[in-house]
Amino acid sequence: MSNHFDLEFLTDDPNLMKLCMEYWKTNEDGEFVSKITDIAKEFGISSVGLGKFVEGHCNAYSTEIFCKTCGTPYFYVNRTDYQSARNHQNKIWVCEECQELERQEQTIKQQTLEESKRKIIREKFDLKIRQTIQVDSLTLENAVYLLSLARSCGSEDFGHAKPIWTAAEPFAPSSNFAFKVLKNLGSCSERVTANEGSNEVG
Ligand SMILES: [Zn+2]
Repeated sequence: MSNHFDLEFLTDDPNLMKLCMEYWKTNEDGEFVSKITDIAKEFGISSVGLGKFVEGHCNAYSTEIFCKTCGTPYFYVNRTDYQSARNHQNKIWVCEECQELERQEQTIKQQTLEESKRKIIREKFDLKIRQTIQVDSLTLENAVYLLSLARSCGSEDFGHAKPIWTAAEPFAPSSNFAFKVLKNLGSCSERVTANEGSNEVG
């Protein structure tokens, strides 16, 4: 038997064990010694699906390719698999179980990241810690800006504002102008907070 893989038999039948060994027998270069048709003829079975039949009676574990994470040896399904795996020997292989674990870890990492983002948003934009803007204290310019914003992006009950890019009508003649308006309203609200509710805002 070659040293490219170890066979683990799933049968006690000496005839089937001999068939499996014949199927997997390789020379020094790792090439198969017997033809599928010859094996089928020798054992009196069909050559169609012979690989599948052998797979049911023995496992061929590679002695050259191992999972880079847990070290489990690669399991050859059949001759074709063996040949293509040997052609990609330098390729890093990770077994199904380790891939699944990696996927789960990624999902958990992603969820944790999303949750921490949501937490930051909740804390930063919590309405309870915000001062109410006194409408009387707004300049005419800011009052017009606020009205435009409310008409364009405010929900029906004015309970919340939708993102400006989802508004049916453009909120401002240009995106630069929209940015200027939002900046103005933002600084206006900051001044209210800084003045702890003082009406002297502009
Ligand atoms: Zn693994």
